[in-house]
Amino acid sequence: MTAANAVRVDRLSFRYPGSALTLNDVSFSIASGEIVGLVGPSGAGKSTLLQHLNGLLPTRLSESETNTWIDDIPVTRASLPDVRRRVGFLFQDPDDQLFCPTVFEDVAFGPLNLNLPDDEVRRRVQESLLAVGLSGYESRSTMRLSLGERKRVCLAGVFACQPSILALDEPFSSLDPRARRTLIGILKKFPGSQIVATHDLDVVVELCHRVLLLDGGQLRASGLTNDILGNAALMERHGLEVPLRLQPR
Ligand code: ADP
Repeated sequence: MTAANAVRVDRLSFRYPGSALTLNDVSFSIASGEIVGLVGPSGAGKSTLLQHLNGLLPTRLSESETNTWIDDIPVTRASLPDVRRRVGFLFQDPDDQLFCPTVFEDVAFGPLNLNLPDDEVRRRVQESLLAVGLSGYESRSTMRLSLGERKRVCLAGVFACQPSILALDEPFSSLDPRARRTLIGILKKFPGSQIVATHDLDVVVELCHRVLLLDGGQLRASGLTNDILGNAALMERHGLEVPLRLQPR
């Protein structure tokens, strides 16, 4: 049975040790199959929020209590392996994600950890590299790729685990126009739910059904993409600009 909500966050607050509140009473949900943009100025708490979705934060998860549910499963220490199988997390910086010498090993790492048989691992690596346009890169060193290629290797590693939800932190930053366009195409084809934190608001207009606007750790607005991103006063209030595609001609 499909869960009603792919993601549910209920009254989530969080502070890093010794800091002010980074997330302040945040609540939202993402329906199955929905693509949601997470926008806000730098320092708004977007990365911190995403990291709660696969239990990277808080660092000391409770056995039973949580403010976050994935496919209706509470994110607790006990559910962490299951939650991480469901949520494919793309770090903003590929250096935080890639650590194997070759592309093949990096993309295979997740499926191997799922204890899949070798031929299934090889099949998933091939399919995932094909999906991100990097077939034939298997034996290349991850250290000797462009930033855009490295991001796509990270994404292939995420796809190879066949998650039902993608949590993507600035997937378009530092990509050239062609790599950016390729990635938009890849994400449009992904069949599951997605939450995408990005400053690239034109992509949000193209890709996302709905938008969450975070500022100062608080959810300031949530609604249909064009309603939120086309609201010039709201955008200005939170240090953002109406994307070109929605500006009056
Ligand atoms: P965004 O992704 O919207 O730019 P972040 O979630 O990265 O925002 O950061 C939100 C706030 O939390 C910022 O003030 C940032 O300096 C702070 N912060 C982020 N990571 C840490 C950390 N590991 N320790 C302490 N403070 C942090």
